[in-house]
Formats: sequence, C-alpha cells, structure tokens
Amino acid sequence: MTERYTTTDAGGPAPSDDQSLTVGPDGPILLQDHYLIEQMAMFNRERIPERQPHAKGGGAFGHFEVTGDVSRYTRAAVFQPGATTETLIRFSTVAGERGSPDTWRDPRGFAVKFYTSEGNFDMVGNNTPIFFIRDPLKFQHFIRSQKRMAASNLRDHNMQWDFWTLSPESAHQVTWLMGDRGIPRSWRHMNGYGSHTYSWINAAGEIFWVKYHFITDQGIEFLNQRDADRLAGEDGDYHQRDLYRAIERGEYPSWTLKMQIMPFEQAKAYRFNPFDLTKVWPHADFPLVEVGRLTLDRNVTDYHTEIEQAAFEPNSLVPGTGLSPDKMLLARGFSYADAHRARLGTNYKQIPVNSPKVQVHSYSKDGAMRIANVSDPVYAPNSYGGPHADPARAAEVRWYADGDMVRAAYTLRAEDDDWGQAGTLVREVLDDDARDRLVHNIIGHVCKGVREPVLSRVFQYWRNVDPDLGKAVEAGVRANLS
Ligand code: NDP
Repeated sequence: MTERYTTTDAGGPAPSDDQSLTVGPDGPILLQDHYLIEQMAMFNRERIPERQPHAKGGGAFGHFEVTGDVSRYTRAAVFQPGATTETLIRFSTVAGERGSPDTWRDPRGFAVKFYTSEGNFDMVGNNTPIFFIRDPLKFQHFIRSQKRMAASNLRDHNMQWDFWTLSPESAHQVTWLMGDRGIPRSWRHMNGYGSHTYSWINAAGEIFWVKYHFITDQGIEFLNQRDADRLAGEDGDYHQRDLYRAIERGEYPSWTLKMQIMPFEQAKAYRFNPFDLTKVWPHADFPLVEVGRLTLDRNVTDYHTEIEQAAFEPNSLVPGTGLSPDKMLLARGFSYADAHRARLGTNYKQIPVNSPKVQVHSYSKDGAMRIANVSDPVYAPNSYGGPHADPARAAEVRWYADGDMVRAAYTLRAEDDDWGQAGTLVREVLDDDARDRLVHNIIGHVCKGVREPVLSRVFQYWRNVDPDLGKAVEAGVRANLS
C-alpha cells in the first residue's frame, strides 16, 4: 500500500499531525505555521446554523420503484409504471435543537428527495397526516411557542398549551401528538405523509387533488412515555443509531407509497374543505391507491455534506405534479428555499446532495460559492440558441380563483369544525388502552407547568374534543396538582 500523507487543504503534505512550529522546544509559536493556523481556522468554522425548526435529524439514500399504475392521474416520469428513481430521505424532530434527544414527544419530519429524470422532486412531509395550524401567518408564532422562553431560555409547557388552546384548529394534531404515534419506536416504524393536498396532472392535462401516504412496511410501533424518557437520558441518538445500524446490517427499511386521489370537480362540494391542513380525507371517501415502494439501502458517508446540508423544498416539482390552494403549502413554497439560501448560501443547489441528476439550464448566475460555470447567452429571450421554457409546464397550472382580497379563514364546508376529526380519532380509531395512554400522556404533559388561565382552557379544549376525555383529563390533572 502506498503511503498516504496528511495534506493541507491545498493538497500538499502536512508537516506534522501533533507538533506546532515554535522557536526552540519551549519558545513561542510562529505565525508562519500555516498548517496550525489552517487547522484552527477551519475548526472555528465547522458548525453552520442549525435548521429552524427540524434541527435534529438523520437520513439515508435509497430508491423508489413504481409497482402500481397511476398513469391516468399523473404524467410525472417518477410515478410511471416500472420507473426506478434514486432518493434521499431525512427524518427529524421539530422543536429540539441539534443535540436534543430523538425520543422527545414531537412530530417527525419525513422529507424525501427523488432525483428524477425530469429534475428533483421533493416531498417534504411529516409522520402526521395533518398539522397544528392552517394559516402560514401563525407558523412562526407556533414554532416559537414550542421552543424557548426569552428570559429563562427554557422550554415551557405553559407557553405551548397557551398557544394550542388559543388556536383550536390545533386540536386534531395535538390529539394525534399526545397519542401513541407521538413517540415512534424508530424512524423505521412510522408512516410519512405529504400532509398537504397537492395536485397531479395527467398527459391529457386533467388535474387531480392528491395526498401522499408512505405506509411503513415494518409496521407501526411506538414508545410509551416512560421508555421514551429513559431513552432520552440513556441514548439521545436512539433513532439515528437505529436507522444507521439497520442499514449497516442489510435490513433495509421500506415504505409503500399510497395516494388518495380526488377528482378536481369533487373538491368544490366536499364535506370538508379539502385544502385545510388540519383535516384528513377519510379513507372511506378516498381509498388509498398503491403507487410504489421506497427502500433505504445506503448510509451516508459524510453526515455534514449529505444530511446537514441537504435541502428539501416543496417548490421542487416535476411535470405532472403541483401545489394546491392549501395556504400553508403555498407559503412553504417560498419559505423553504429562502431558509436554505439563508442557512447554506445562494448556491445551495450546487452542493452535490442537492444537485439534480439532470443537466440544469437555468439563467441563475453568480452569487457566493458558485461552482457551475454558465455560458452565453445569459438572458432570455435571445437569438443565440439559449434554452427556452416549456409551454406544456405553464399549461399545468390549472386551478383558478377570484374574489376580493381578504384576510379570512377558509370557507367552511358542511362538516368543518375544529373538533370533529379529533373526536373521531379518539372515539372511533383508538381502543380503550390507547385512550388510557392518551389521557395519561396529556395529564403528564399538562402537569409540567401549565397554570391558570391556560389550565381552564386546557380542560375545555379536551371537553370540546370529547366530553369523556375532557372529564378524565381534568380529574387526572386536579388529582396530580392537589
Ligand atoms: P379509518 O378507520 O379509515 O382510518 C383510521 C386511521 O387512523 C388508520 O388507517 C391509521 O392510519 C390511523 N391510526 C390508527 N391508530 C392511530 C393512532 N393511535 N394515532 C393516529 N392515527 C392512528 O378512518 P378515517 O380515514 O375515517 O379517519 C378517522 C380518523 O383517523 C381521522 O379523523 C384521523 O384522526 C385519523 N387518521 C386518518 C387518516 C386518513 O388519512 N384518513 C390517516 C391517519 C389518521 P394509517 O393507515 O395512515 O396508519
């Protein structure tokens, strides 16, 4: 084997791994020890700002194989029968910082990048089919309420419940979060959901409203609060370790992608507003249609370049896929790319993990850390053979709106309210044991610092979801606090 020398960052052999350059063995360090200076300077710059939110996470590479036939709903190459596409996935918690325990109760991010033959397609989802709020103006406030107080720098349950109980649209997601699925056993044992309503467009130009469901092939498993608390102390990286080791052992986790598909016209009169992120579409109305299987089979080799710098954004769309009138989704279409520009730099899409596998012919140029050369002409339209946009893609933006400019809630449909679907989850999906654990989890959470006037609102909140649940929560909290 040939000798492999340490080098400087410029590639030349480094003079020493352990001794700096001094005047005599006991003398001062010299400024011309450039290698020492390079080592110290690079170390000082190793950390980049963590994500706000979704700071703690991990992921892996894999592939997506189409097993069904949804060609009558979308022309996207990635979803055509027989297609196989390379993928990257990142799982995360939402509120905790980069070093926070994996087993805290929190929704999990479930972000998938498909390196398709038509450019990158990102599905930036969570392990929940719904979310806490439905208007993006509240998102910043929501996240701040889940993070830290200004003076004490402490997380604070009173602050969390204050926001939730003053935002009744959160009830469905909070019910979900306080239930078993609020702490998955591992990232392998949870589903991923696109959560929002998206659109698909077929070759004939017909548009459909769709929801993405990645159903775990490992089965759903969860941690109870006691085990999760213990693990938070014993192994803060429990989920990261589980995924890395499973792939290392050759146990490749997989998820089956299934869709709910709503014909365009049906949205107008559907009993729930189909674009409201706090609601699901009941399976009985829109059964799941199988599309394919996502398998993770390759660990990253450099966490920083391949996961910490991975940038997922719902605006990375391919022909045959699109957004919808969901206000949260429309806002995310701006804010994710903007977050990456702020955190990683203008040219973050040139970091290899974010680069599409297809050639990029955009007119973007220059900016800090740009490495891909551009060529003339640098503008469009031009007479010199530069690329031009695809009219077929323009024709795909097919939904329409009119009306006065307003700041208003979604139009309510026949069965729209903030409590109904949360109540259905409690009464019709959970069994007695799961309901008991839900009550136990809520009581434990509330008893850690929630006080009046928030406390009374907490009891009313749960009575609104379900009268029996509300009664049990109030009795349990009062018994604990007395
Ligand atoms: P279904 O009986 O057809 O579906 C209920 C779904 O609930 C299951 O398919 C499962 O979703 C999910 N579920 C099971 N246990 C839990 C749990 N402990 N916490 C959270 N979710 C759980 O009923 P509907 O489709 O009519 O929905 C009824 C309620 O179920 C909804 O109000 C919603 O709260 C919840 N739900 C619905 C989903 C949907 O997309 N329709 C998805 C997830 C939850 P899965 O199959 O995805 O594992």
